[in-house]
Amino acid sequence: TQYVYRFGGGVSDGGSGDKTLLGGKGANLAEMASIGLPVPPGFTISTQMCTRYYEEGQSFPDSLRDEVAQGIAHIEGVTGKTFGDAADPLLVSVRSGARVSMPGMMDTVLNLGLNDQTVEGLATASGDARFAWDSYRRFIQMYSDVVLELDHGRFEEALEIAKEDNGYNLDTELTAEDWQKLVAEYKALVEELWGKPFPQDVHDQLWGAIGAVFGSWQAERAKVYRRLNNIPGDWGTAVNVQAMVFGNMGDTSATGVAFTRNPATGENAYYGEFLINAQGEDVVAGIRTPQYLTKAAREGAGAKPLSMEEAMPDAYGELAAVFDRLERHYRDMQDIEFTVQQGKLWMLQTRSGKRTAKAALKIGIDMAEEGLITREEAVARVDPAALDQLLHPTLDPDAPRDVLTKGLPASPGAASGVAVFDSETAERRSATGEPVILVRVETSPEDIHGMHAAKGILTARGGMTSHAAVVARGMGRPCVSGAGSLAIDSRARVMRVGTREIREGDTLTIDGSTGEVMAGSVPTVQPELAGDFGTLMEWADGVRRLKVRANAETPLDCRTARDFGAEGIGLCRTEHMFFEGSRITAVRQMILAEDEKGRRAALDKLLPEQRRDFIEIFEVMAGLPCTIRLLDPPLHEFLPHQEAEFAEVASAAGVGVEQLKRRAAELHEFNPMLGHRGCRLGVTYPEIYEMQARAIFEAACEVAEKSGEAPIPEVMIPLVGTRKELELMKAVVDKAAEAVFAEKGRTIEYLVGTMIELPRAALKAGEIAEVGEFFSFGTNDLTQTTLGVSRDDAARFLGVYVDKGIYARDPFVSLDVDGVGELIEIAAERGRKTRPNIKLGICGEHGGDPASIAFCEKAGLDYVSASPYRVPIARLAAAQAAL
Ligand code: PEP
Ligand code: MG
Repeated sequence: TQYVYRFGGGVSDGGSGDKTLLGGKGANLAEMASIGLPVPPGFTISTQMCTRYYEEGQSFPDSLRDEVAQGIAHIEGVTGKTFGDAADPLLVSVRSGARVSMPGMMDTVLNLGLNDQTVEGLATASGDARFAWDSYRRFIQMYSDVVLELDHGRFEEALEIAKEDNGYNLDTELTAEDWQKLVAEYKALVEELWGKPFPQDVHDQLWGAIGAVFGSWQAERAKVYRRLNNIPGDWGTAVNVQAMVFGNMGDTSATGVAFTRNPATGENAYYGEFLINAQGEDVVAGIRTPQYLTKAAREGAGAKPLSMEEAMPDAYGELAAVFDRLERHYRDMQDIEFTVQQGKLWMLQTRSGKRTAKAALKIGIDMAEEGLITREEAVARVDPAALDQLLHPTLDPDAPRDVLTKGLPASPGAASGVAVFDSETAERRSATGEPVILVRVETSPEDIHGMHAAKGILTARGGMTSHAAVVARGMGRPCVSGAGSLAIDSRARVMRVGTREIREGDTLTIDGSTGEVMAGSVPTVQPELAGDFGTLMEWADGVRRLKVRANAETPLDCRTARDFGAEGIGLCRTEHMFFEGSRITAVRQMILAEDEKGRRAALDKLLPEQRRDFIEIFEVMAGLPCTIRLLDPPLHEFLPHQEAEFAEVASAAGVGVEQLKRRAAELHEFNPMLGHRGCRLGVTYPEIYEMQARAIFEAACEVAEKSGEAPIPEVMIPLVGTRKELELMKAVVDKAAEAVFAEKGRTIEYLVGTMIELPRAALKAGEIAEVGEFFSFGTNDLTQTTLGVSRDDAARFLGVYVDKGIYARDPFVSLDVDGVGELIEIAAERGRKTRPNIKLGICGEHGGDPASIAFCEKAGLDYVSASPYRVPIARLAAAQAAL
């Protein structure tokens, strides 16, 4: 196997297609060299060597010695210098480079090849003794840190003392003699800390550095970074050995980093910083304040030190030409490192630049309009998840933040307000115009009004599909859930994190996009939906096949969803409507009723309210399909808890409190999620579904009458497992429809279908489709029931499951394609066999997750349904899935 690949001096053994083998940096260095850009010669040791290095107990095969020797010979041939030559030494850099960039995670050594002899040669050959000794001390410092792993604080301390002793402020004030003295101190430090003298043999230095770079792949921080960014541990890193070029050879030398376009705004203008007479790490380390690249940027910022355009016009002109060349070649915005050595430009790195969502949109659209890429490519390049950044107010990235703790990023967006610990207070204080953050151990449906009133929601318990998370996303309220380190005392109206205390009325900020919880307020910036966002969405709509609907149940949510481009309602959870205002008492009366008569009395109160709800929704969604799901309550969520609530229900129902309490105790369930919910409620108490169906059809007739445009209700039965259940429930719905149509003297087109939320329903889909006219995959419950993992309790252990690679991602966030996905495919296939044009959709939280949407495209579903704020994400993800 070949492990060493050369580049520079007219040779390129690899190219940009070889990222897997050569890492991103190595592949792009070879590519730049092959298109004739000025790249210092060097070679890359492949990632395969990294794998082998670990397989063989962290040692190298003999064959690598020969290959590296040939690589060094290549650099010597191109530069005309010799490695270790006392008169005019070749110096090299040794840098890591994985397939994807892992900024700051792995190791770099510069100026390698200096020792007590070659430093003198470098001084003579360069005619600059100060430069030579400065380079040597930098090398010892870096090598000691990265390769010998000695305490770098001691080296910095020695430098600070040297500056103090001489009365200097800046490193640049040190003279050749000062640096020489410091080198002697550094060498003594190495002996003291390492027990051996600093290695003088340049080949020992090289092998030490190569081993350190491979070794850094398994460093703790690199492992953590990989875990956070889903980078497999077996990819390995490559090692790049390259001739040094020097930005610190006086005032005609410089080093810098640049983007070919602005990575924050996307503006088509070069963006970057550089430093005269400096080496790479000086720019990043922030020792000196870097200067602007362009005159316009400098003037815009009102800065004094000359820009590169002004200070080094020739090198700048060359750099600008390279920028254009790179953009045309890579057809993307590039992130670049360069060095100017005595007026000559050298390219040290290029890669596709990281950018904000806003910049991603602008750059994609601009490049398509410049003819550099196609519209499809522009659509394909924007990360749908990043759109979140654009749809919600976000924290000002430049503002300081006092982070208390971190929970799950349950619903994106940022919010600041005073902490309150119950929904009543949330409502009361927000009514006075005060922004509030509702802080709860966990939320229940009774908190809906408090959540509505709040600017943001924070809970100590609950996962990504917990009640708080689902409802908050639906409302577009920022939410951080499951912040386990919070100790909340609702009675005392206080929460504690470690030694910090937040009392009711103290200001709190949450970032639902990162999960951060902060003390005090942090300024936010508002989103912008027109312009580039609108353009890209239009392009996306042009390529997608999947329809996109919304999960929504209030007129406001429906309107938001339509504004975001929803093409109908995919899930209207009617139980959420039952918590509005005074209805809860009637709902409780209905649940606690001893018999049908008692239930009907309560239902009569609810009917007009439900009808009004549906009228409002149908009006907003005129002409579009609306899937209304009949009641699916975990009953316990509706039961009264407090004495006053029992009293209220008792008086409404005209029965005694004690009787109610007995009934409530009867209704207690050990496992409500698998209890008397979904269509089981309709099967036992058909009058409930009858009332809801009646409300739906009465509302539809009324809207058709008023507006001339009839809605298309799709009545959906939840938690069906058998054909018979659906048959019974469909009969109830059809009967109500018939009755209403007879009364109103008009008929409305409608469908009756089912959710597929149970493995049995998926397997028996062929039978169920004989009755059901559509299927909607309720993947929250289908995940829960297929995996046998409670959606409300999963957060406690699923993190460990993901860490250990049992599931690649939280299966409640991103569909378990292998397991739950197979059930969906089975159900789709069997359903279609019975009813070829059966409508298929998904309405679990996965309907807004890009990876899950890609699966839905492959499975041939007709639509996905997501919470309103995720509709644009779903539109873009659906387009990408179709490309
Ligand atoms: C589901 O189970 O996926 C679903 C959409 O229903 P709910 O979340 O209301 O149980
Ligand atoms: Mg469900």
